[in-house]
Amino acid sequence: MANILIYAEHLNGQVTDASFELIALARQLADSTGASVEAAIIGTGAGSLAYQLGGADTILVGESNELGEFNPQGHAAVFTDLITDRKPAITLVPYTSIGMDIASVAAATTDLPLVSYCLGVNADDGLSATCQLYGGKVEVDVQVDGDRAIFAMLSGCASADDGRSGGAGSEESIDVSVPELGIEFLYLTEPETGDIDIAAEEVLVAIGRGIESEDNIEEAQELADAIGAPLAASRPIIDQGWLPKDRQVGKSGLTVKPKIYLTLGISGAPEHLEGMRDSAIIIAINSDPQAPIFGVAHYGWVGDLFDFMPELTDRLEG
Ligand SMILES: Cc1cc2nc3c(=O)[nH]c(=O)nc-3n(C[C@H](O)[C@H](O)[C@H](O)COP(=O)(O)OP(=O)(O)OC[C@H]3O[C@@H](n4cnc5c(N)ncnc54)[C@H](O)[C@@H]3O)c2cc1C
Repeated sequence: MANILIYAEHLNGQVTDASFELIALARQLADSTGASVEAAIIGTGAGSLAYQLGGADTILVGESNELGEFNPQGHAAVFTDLITDRKPAITLVPYTSIGMDIASVAAATTDLPLVSYCLGVNADDGLSATCQLYGGKVEVDVQVDGDRAIFAMLSGCASADDGRSGGAGSEESIDVSVPELGIEFLYLTEPETGDIDIAAEEVLVAIGRGIESEDNIEEAQELADAIGAPLAASRPIIDQGWLPKDRQVGKSGLTVKPKIYLTLGISGAPEHLEGMRDSAIIIAINSDPQAPIFGVAHYGWVGDLFDFMPELTDRLEG
């Protein structure tokens, strides 16, 4: 089988967990198909970070200050050239804001199919992927028409630790010249942190749309106080203005890894899971037994959060 090519994302001088997950996934695929794994890292700091991608057989290093840590036009152009030149059967990008900027341009330019929201890829009988639909409520198997494709992988598709470990891939410099670069990377703006940094907390109580109204947040706050944890939330709560932006967990919010993450009325959409699935213990309270949050929860209770909250608060305070 032809090669597997990975786009290795890096931010703030760190290779992201999503990139290590892709290496782990590619290694699994390579073991079953005999393919070799190539990981491309592009932009400022690529040269000094490349050694971390040793789980790949070849690390394609595109050091470039001009492209900054990320530049949608520049990174997409360089990565697309790699796909054109090296003709990988499987191209893996993380399903992140950066990854989708790259994947959509690469697919449109190379005319390869782009399969998004992927949980896993299979190369045993042609190329196929298991994908999430409808915010994670449905999983489907997608068969690729043809023998090459780009897959945008959801967070958690493989173990980041497996992708981090071992390997001694060889490094190869790649061409990073992009004619008529019209975008310049200036600096990364991170969400402002207020009085509480939920990313640094060991226990979080996270509320979702199941809380129904702003008036009910007080009851959730009482439970959080009894536990000794701050409130975090899914995006709809923030969009309503019921809690500040620095409490949002997920794709367009913060990534948290507390020891305990208690969710109240959160469905578990992929964009939310992206920000909390690496929590040590996830406890989900949801009235819908089919809610996707139960797919990642270590403990769960199917029921009404308005029964659960006062009961637990009373027990903790009593
Ligand atoms: C580009 C993009 C970025 C996004 N970024 C984020 C992000 O950073 N973070 C994020 O969270 N979302 C994000 N989203 C939104 C995401 O897709 C979901 O819409 C959102 O996570 C859903 O929030 P929720 O689970 O609170 O609400 P819902 O999906 O509406 O789920 C509410 C849940 O509450 C349960 N429920 C209702 N009543 C009760 C009750 N009385 N007791 C118990 N359970 C009850 C229901 O069964 C349901 O499962 C993003 C979306 C996009 C497109």
